[in-house]
Amino acid sequence: MKEKIWLTAYFILIVVLLVGASVGSYYSWTFYQKNLVLEAQNKELQNLVATTSNSLASTTLRLQEEIDKTNIFADQISDIASTVGDLDKLSKTDKELLLKYSKISFLNEHYVPFSLATITPVFIANHEAQRINSSVWPFLERLLVKASSSGIDLRVNSAYRSFGTQAKIKTGYNFTYGAGTANNFSADQGYSEHQLGTAVDFSTPNTGGDFKFGETKAFSWLVANAYRYGFILSYPKNNGYYQYEPWHWRFVGVELATKMHDENKYFFDYPQRTLNLYLANIFD
Ligand SMILES: [Zn+2]
Repeated sequence: MKEKIWLTAYFILIVVLLVGASVGSYYSWTFYQKNLVLEAQNKELQNLVATTSNSLASTTLRLQEEIDKTNIFADQISDIASTVGDLDKLSKTDKELLLKYSKISFLNEHYVPFSLATITPVFIANHEAQRINSSVWPFLERLLVKASSSGIDLRVNSAYRSFGTQAKIKTGYNFTYGAGTANNFSADQGYSEHQLGTAVDFSTPNTGGDFKFGETKAFSWLVANAYRYGFILSYPKNNGYYQYEPWHWRFVGVELATKMHDENKYFFDYPQRTLNLYLANIFD
């Protein structure tokens, strides 16, 4: 009887163990299968990510190439536009404005600036109205206003002079000083920068406009500042070209005047070819 009970107990134990093992194996097999599927899915996903990122990279590259091409094209268009702009400006700019007068180039008796502006009377030295090329006037006005606000009493003695006026002045000088002397300080008609309408003779109420002007605060102020407004001293001391004229200043544009100031050179030091490069932007 006791043996039968033991046998039954063993039998139940074996059955329980078998059932346990089967259930365990089943679950671990299912788990393994699920894991396989997951791994496969994971691999697929990785492939998809890799393919997508590759194609994204190549699309980005193509896009960048297109952008580069477009930028190069835009640069070329802007270069062409600025060349066309310069040519257009040049075609509308008076070709005489940067030529060397006084001895070399000649303005014929019919040359008159396109347009002349009247200089504000408060800046005039005497009662005679003075006019200047109207594109130069804004630069001269700024110069005069700045000088005045810096405590410099600068006046305009003379600006635009026609061919006829210059001829009369020259005749007057010849009569007073004799032709030899007059030649040194008054250009013959046609050779005067004043006929261009871009030259100004300055003075101060105390000194007037003769050589004493070269010793004034006003003259030192012009030497230090006139280039900022596009004006240069045409005939400096010992220029080897024409008599020293501290009162006589010519408009050549801010860019060229600044170059001359920086290089400490004068208008007649440069070849005409170099001066011509600054014509298109003379009023910028
Ligand atoms: Zn002059």
